[in-house]
Amino acid sequence: MAVLISGTTKKTMNVMAKPVGPACNIDCDYCYYLSKEGLLDYDKKCKPKMEGDLLEKFIKSYIEQQNSNEIVFHWQGGEPTLLGVAYFREVIRLQKKYTPKGVRVENNLQTNGTLLNDEWARFLAKHHFLVGISIDGPELYHNAYRTNKAGRGTFNQTMKGLEALKRHNVSFATLTCVNNLTGSNPVEIYRFLRDVVGSTQMQFIPIVEPKSFAKTAPQHWRSEEVLFDGMPELDPRHPDSVVESWCVSAEQWGQFLCGVFDEWFSNDIGLINVPYFEACVETWMGRVNPLCTLAPMCGKGLAIEANGDVFACDHYVYPEYKLGNIQTSDLDEMQFSPVQEQFGRAKEASLPSQCRKCDYQFACFGECPKNRFIQTLEGEPGLNYLCRGWNRFFKHIDPYIALIVRSMGYEVHKQINSQAMRIQL
Ligand code: SF4
Ligand code: SF4
Repeated sequence: MAVLISGTTKKTMNVMAKPVGPACNIDCDYCYYLSKEGLLDYDKKCKPKMEGDLLEKFIKSYIEQQNSNEIVFHWQGGEPTLLGVAYFREVIRLQKKYTPKGVRVENNLQTNGTLLNDEWARFLAKHHFLVGISIDGPELYHNAYRTNKAGRGTFNQTMKGLEALKRHNVSFATLTCVNNLTGSNPVEIYRFLRDVVGSTQMQFIPIVEPKSFAKTAPQHWRSEEVLFDGMPELDPRHPDSVVESWCVSAEQWGQFLCGVFDEWFSNDIGLINVPYFEACVETWMGRVNPLCTLAPMCGKGLAIEANGDVFACDHYVYPEYKLGNIQTSDLDEMQFSPVQEQFGRAKEASLPSQCRKCDYQFACFGECPKNRFIQTLEGEPGLNYLCRGWNRFFKHIDPYIALIVRSMGYEVHKQINSQAMRIQL
């Protein structure tokens, strides 16, 4: 984001790097990224890999084209650990080469954990990586969809990787996909992550994909896919559902968030960080939600593929949303381009009137536009598939969040303070 502060424009970027493209050693049923292999025309015979001059160019531009004193690299996939420790040693070497004095560089790595061992863990600890580890809950839930290429569950390998991280005191957060199974078992999932995994930072992601997701970009859905809120075909269990069977339903999503919230509120405030809840506390204070999905604006997190192609967002890696390639365009030009700005502003500008009138617009902003594929009962398109779930959750937590805000000595402001909004937009 470019913000004018005391006469200088502060330029910060957040780019999700996919150095191995969509390649992965496992084969999760609900993965939204594996299908990019066909979409992005990678040569099936050669595995995509960002290396050599291209890797150096990315690292150099990402550091030089920001003027912040803290730069965070986000490594994701596919499965980035397929590249091996030596690849990331080279990443660290290049980062050191280009980082000016006084600037701190950090690295976040998102992984399925199955390839992690002591060598990896020593390296990650030494270079202070924050590791996001994907784990869906106890074995039964994890193995339901997170399977290897032979169709066998990966729970034991993920737990082994996790143990390696713990042995070497690597900082980690958990990322849990909320799907049609986990969605109905919030407390069991939460307690497992807290008591067995030992997670103190828990990210939950709703799994939502229309059946056409592999080929059809968001906002390019066919009109017959855009159903009215409440229609039975929006339920993933319906035989003619428009969403994949493994998706969480809107009702389950609300139930899941409320269940986790109650457990967290009763026992773990200040001990466990659940970004959704922490973000709500900020939002109830009148601040802009720090999570892009619930903020007024998109567009601050580009995605870069292994071949240097840059896209508007990790969830918009489709030809329609390609901004360019770093071999021919500068990263900052793409990040701050009019097209990307329009993409960002469209999040608020395209809200249907149901969201504009909603008591919780300040906290939700219609959630992620990739999930806005239903229409309101009045027939207006652009409503979020998860709306009923979000609404239930916000209503449920409202008095408790207000209590937390007041106990911290702040007033409750259920609308974003206008200055914070100006900076955001
Ligand atoms: S499209 Fe979704 S994930 Fe991407 S920036 Fe917008 S809200 Fe965030
Ligand atoms: S809860 Fe529903 S109506 Fe309210 S802002 Fe979110 S998506 Fe829109």
